[in-house]
Amino acid sequence: MAQLIDGKVIAARVRSDVAARLARFKVEHGRTPELHVVLVGEDPGSLVYVGSKEKAAAEVGMGGRVHRLPASTSERTLLDLVEELNRSAAVDGILVQFPVPQQIRQTEVIRSIDPQKDVDGLHAQSVGALWSGQRGLVPCTPRGCMRLLKEAGVTLTGARAVVVGRSNLVGKPIAGLLLQQDATVTLAHSKTRDLAEVCRGADVLVAAVGRAKMISGSWIKPGAVVIDVGMNRDEHGKLCGDVDFASAAEVASAITPVPGGVGPMTIAMLLENTLLAAEARSAR
Ligand code: NDP
Repeated sequence: MAQLIDGKVIAARVRSDVAARLARFKVEHGRTPELHVVLVGEDPGSLVYVGSKEKAAAEVGMGGRVHRLPASTSERTLLDLVEELNRSAAVDGILVQFPVPQQIRQTEVIRSIDPQKDVDGLHAQSVGALWSGQRGLVPCTPRGCMRLLKEAGVTLTGARAVVVGRSNLVGKPIAGLLLQQDATVTLAHSKTRDLAEVCRGADVLVAAVGRAKMISGSWIKPGAVVIDVGMNRDEHGKLCGDVDFASAAEVASAITPVPGGVGPMTIAMLLENTLLAAEARSAR
C-alpha cells in the first residue's frame, strides 16, 4: 500500500510558517502585507474558493480584502480597479478569481496585473521567469505540488516525470518546475497517443486533467509517486481526483488523496506567495 502524502498536515505547516514570517515582517517593516482578491459575479465555485482564501488570510494575520463586484461589471471597471491596486503601496498580492463573466477578457486581466503582485503567477512575465530560471511568482497549485514532492522526500533529479494536462494554471508550470529540478519531463494532453503507456513510464506522475478517476492503477508503474491535482465529482457526487485512488494506491509508492492532498496546498501557497511578493518589494 502506498504512503499517503498528507496535504492537510503539510499545508498547516506552511500556514504556521507564513504566520510566523508575517509577524516578523510587521515588526521589521511596520506594516501588514496585503492580499487583495477580486471576485466578479457569483460563480458558485468561485464564491467557495474566495471565501476560503479570505478565511485563510485572516487566520495567518494577513491584511487585504475581497473586492466583490457585480456580474455586470465592465472590463474597463475591473481593469481600473486592478490599476488602483497596482499603484497602491499597501497592496502586495492581487488575485482576480477566474472565471470572469464573458464581457471581460481573461487575457486582458492577466496582462493588467503588476507582475510583482501577480500572486497567481499567470502574467507572461511570471511565466517567462519560470521557464528562464529567473526570480518571479509561480502559480500556487504547481508550487503546492512541488512542496508535497519535497516533503515526501522524492528524488526528482533524473526521474521520469509525466504531467497529464497542459493548462497555463496547472500542467505547464508543474512541467517547468519539475524540469528545474532536473526531472525528464513529458507533458501529456488530450491528443497524446497511448496515454496509458506514457503514464506507465513515469517515476513521478502528476494528473491535472479534470476527469474523475481517469487514471487507473494499471497506468501506474510499480513504485511510482502520484500527485493528483484533479477535483471532480464521482457518480455519487463525492469529491474525487483524476486518479482512481483505490487501484493506484495498490501500485504506487506514494500518493496524494483527494480531498486532502493538493487542494489544501493551493491556498497555503497563495499566502506564501503574497508574503514572498511583500518581501521582494520591500527588499528593492
Ligand atoms: P483545464 O481544463 O484547463 O485543463 C485540462 C487539461 O487536461 C488540458 O490540457 C486537456 O488537454 C487535458 N485533458 C483533458 N481530457 C484529457 C484526456 N482525456 N486525456 C488527456 N488529457 C486530457 O483544467 P485545469 O488545468 O485548470 O485543472 C485540471 C484539474 O485540476 C481540474 O480537475 C481542476 O478542478 C483541478 N484543479 C485543482 C486545483 C487544486 O487546488 N487542487 C487547482 C486548479 C485546478 P488539451 O489541452 O489537449 O485540451
